[in-house]
Amino acid sequence: MRAVVFEAWKTFPTLKDIEKPTPGPGEVLLKVAGAGACHSDVAVYKDFEAATAPPQLAPSYVLGHENSGWAEELGAGVEGIALGDAFLVYGPIGCGHCVACSRGEDTYCTNAATMPYMASGLGRDGGMAEYIVVPARNLVPLGDADPIKAAPLSDAGLTPYHAIKNSLPNLTGGGKFALVVGLGGLGQIAVQILTALTGATVIATDSKADAMTRAQANGAITVPSGPDQAAQIREITGGRGVDAAFDFVGIAPTIALASAVMATKSRLTVVGIAGGKYEWSFFTTPYESTLTNTYWGTIEDLYEVVAMYKAGQITPDVELFAMEDALEAYRKLEAGELTGRAVVVP
Ligand code: NAD
Ligand code: ZN
Ligand code: ZN
Repeated sequence: MRAVVFEAWKTFPTLKDIEKPTPGPGEVLLKVAGAGACHSDVAVYKDFEAATAPPQLAPSYVLGHENSGWAEELGAGVEGIALGDAFLVYGPIGCGHCVACSRGEDTYCTNAATMPYMASGLGRDGGMAEYIVVPARNLVPLGDADPIKAAPLSDAGLTPYHAIKNSLPNLTGGGKFALVVGLGGLGQIAVQILTALTGATVIATDSKADAMTRAQANGAITVPSGPDQAAQIREITGGRGVDAAFDFVGIAPTIALASAVMATKSRLTVVGIAGGKYEWSFFTTPYESTLTNTYWGTIEDLYEVVAMYKAGQITPDVELFAMEDALEAYRKLEAGELTGRAVVVP
């Protein structure tokens, strides 16, 4: 079968023929419906290096950690899954039996350090291929919802959802403001989720004008970058600042921008993995404000994301690519040329 393979650190992936996998005990073979391209893949193959990257991410394997597909074959011991049914894949794979995994939070598996991989497409074969094998417990049923458009929900939907859910206490109470920085695959869905779940005014920004236009269509007020950007954002909030912010870029300047506009008792979540640094000081930090990061989400969150998708509250903007054009999807992602989440449809 054709697959996009990450073969070596600091090396662009290859499109090549590999053997079709077979499901082991407790696993299911899916015929892939859609596989999203995430900016974290770019970090993995372009920025990370052997000395500092988690050993679980070492090449080689098939990329793609945002996957959907139809059940094609069941491994030994798997029951209750009808062949041909459509599923979204919960990507993180923990040990399956620790306290974190028992609550569906494989992201924070207490045995992660001794696991051989992190997730489907992150250390073990992912979905940028005609077929993928995943543990049966990682499947979330899609019913009759479109599985191709659903693929980005696995990460571009789940990650902002988890961050926003943890910030809901900051956004309830009326008259609240949320800020979204970086309106790519994750940021656009963040705007949709904030609009659907909270009554907060959503302020958003991106370095690209067309990304801001799409965010406006999803319900955001946008503020372009520029020297008075923080002042403009503060003005929208009546001077008080924003109650929750989500940074989907994560470089020092975006963390600094968000930090400059936070309100008292606010929460800033850095989602982007660009490694930006921020210097904290008692005297310049709003009282009782929180700065945190986050990693993906729980399988329970993913069920909730799928429910929002089925209710029409989340509609990922997608740009579809045939398998033979999968590498073009990554090229466009790197170049910032995409107009929606790139989804490879084998
Ligand atoms: P993307 O490339 O689709 O979107 C990034 C957006 O940020 C683009 O629209 C780009 O124009 C914009 N941008 C870049 N620099 C900017 C700046 N200085 N100011 C304003 N906007 C700027 O990427 P994505 O797939 O949505 O991922 C976003 C980030 O989140 C990446 O760092 C990715 O690795 C990370 N990520 C983290 C998690 C997690 O669990 N923490 C999960 C998925 C992705
Ligand atoms: Zn990702
Ligand atoms: Zn575990």
